[in-house]
Amino acid sequence: MLCPYCKGEIPDDAKKCMNCGEWVDPAYRKPKKEEQGFFSAVSETILNVMWFAFVLAIAAIAVILFMQANSNGLFD
Ligand SMILES: [Zn+2]
Repeated sequence: MLCPYCKGEIPDDAKKCMNCGEWVDPAYRKPKKEEQGFFSAVSETILNVMWFAFVLAIAAIAVILFMQANSNGLFD
């Protein structure tokens, strides 16, 4: 059969084209971003926001601890 990507001749049962390296079998092809669906995109965004909030909380705790230690005169 012909590779749908480079039109090169490949075996009929080939899962991957040896000419261009593209996966011919759809099951082996990685899903594109827009094919992932709405909910996986949303959960990815939520994960990013949660990670940002986590880093922000750690930074805030560090600042609060530093200020408390400073007001106790530990650094003088
Ligand atoms: Zn190909």
